[in-house]
Amino acid sequence: MSHKPYPPTMENNKQLWSSATTEIELHVSKANFSTWFKNTGILKQDGGVVFLGVPNEFVKDWLYNKYHKFILKALRSCGENVRGLEYVICKTDPKLQEQDEKQDIKALTNTELPLKDLYINKEDNLNPRYVFDSFVIGSFNELAHAAAQAILKRPGHVYNPLFVHGGTGLGKTHLIQAVGNYIKGSDPKKKVYYVTSEKFSMDYINSVQANKINSFKEKYRRYDVFIMDDIQFLSGKEKTQEELFHVFNALYEQNKQIIFSSDQHPNYIPNLKERLKSRFSAGMIVDVQQPEYESRVAILRSKSSLNNFSMTDETSQYLASVIQGNIRELEGVLNLVICQSQLKNRSLTLNEIKSIIKNNIKQRRSVSVKDVVKIVTEFYNIEEGMVYEKTRRKEVVKPRQIIMYILREDFNVSYPSIGQKLGGRDHTTVIHSCEKIRGDLKKDGLLVQEIDRIRAMF
Ligand code: ADP
Ligand code: MG
Repeated sequence: MSHKPYPPTMENNKQLWSSATTEIELHVSKANFSTWFKNTGILKQDGGVVFLGVPNEFVKDWLYNKYHKFILKALRSCGENVRGLEYVICKTDPKLQEQDEKQDIKALTNTELPLKDLYINKEDNLNPRYVFDSFVIGSFNELAHAAAQAILKRPGHVYNPLFVHGGTGLGKTHLIQAVGNYIKGSDPKKKVYYVTSEKFSMDYINSVQANKINSFKEKYRRYDVFIMDDIQFLSGKEKTQEELFHVFNALYEQNKQIIFSSDQHPNYIPNLKERLKSRFSAGMIVDVQQPEYESRVAILRSKSSLNNFSMTDETSQYLASVIQGNIRELEGVLNLVICQSQLKNRSLTLNEIKSIIKNNIKQRRSVSVKDVVKIVTEFYNIEEGMVYEKTRRKEVVKPRQIIMYILREDFNVSYPSIGQKLGGRDHTTVIHSCEKIRGDLKKDGLLVQEIDRIRAMF
């Protein structure tokens, strides 16, 4: 075959792509084939999803728009268990590689590709990539995992609703979709539906505008398993909340399984109706935390082996010790290492890996609450100690609110913990302060500049 897969890929990926392209070659013209399929190759497979490396944005769009279904069909006919296809831009010429490295890396670290790149089932919105098989369990998420497992056998009858909360990139979406994929897989008759709270809200607004509120109501009442992601974005959306409340009641009364996720415990989501909060709390609330070192090593190992990539213990231990953030970041770094090693066609030395980290990962300095207080009070030229006191003097109130806002927005500290660390304040005071700054930022250009300048000091 004339087609040479590039970038160099692992043996089984090479084989799969070579068989698939043979199939494709039979059905497209020679010119088209050489234009669109040269310099493509399978980078990795993850949970049934094939990641196809393509040379640039243009080819990516073209393949997606014209050939997506076709490529997927060819892949499925040649490989077992292929369920999805995603495109990743990966420069092909090693000479160009260096100068374009930054850009490649951006594409590769961005493991959450834009929605249109994902092969998502239109009927249920589920991404086939999110399954239990690829979900690593550690002490940071074992409770959430156990709760999710418990509802698989008798959906709607064990924990209803299941509410999963935790910071970004820690596996909430993966876990709640894995439940959906599992139930769908074990009983295809079950109607599963996954939706983000934002999409739900848009759907609602559109149906009101189009005078189709009844079909909206019908649609959302017919699911056996209803999964809503990121409900923190319902904050302040009163009408949507109202509608969700009715959907919830209708499903709940028929013992349909309902699952929610959010970045916060429901009690700390601002501007959320009490009656929704009490519904959310009626079932089981579990959190996922940051993975600790051992779990980070386990995640790196598992993801490397899913990618047929062999990683030495030294490397996984090194990466787990320097990447202390969330799982999405771990995946990003791993993709980087895999791609570099594929481009070089050999395994990387520890020094090479260190330099990848040094050049590409912005090391997040660990910042304590005290550091934030110090920087903000210095900026506004007030005494540090006053922030912790009860004083409501104007010159203290604003910096204090800004401190709370920065701790919440930039460092993901929970509302109760911010309150506790800033002189034992109630979490509702903290929520109010953050809301105040968020509101002010929309209308006060000067404040925007001030906060920008403060942020630059971290
Ligand atoms: P969240 O919804 O909490 O922001 P995601 O579910 O999107 O996080 O997870 C971010 C990335 O990390 C995804 O690619 C997901 O597959 C991966 N991931 C998260 N948790 C795990 C886990 N326990 N094991 C393996 N991969 C995980
Ligand atoms: Mg998510």
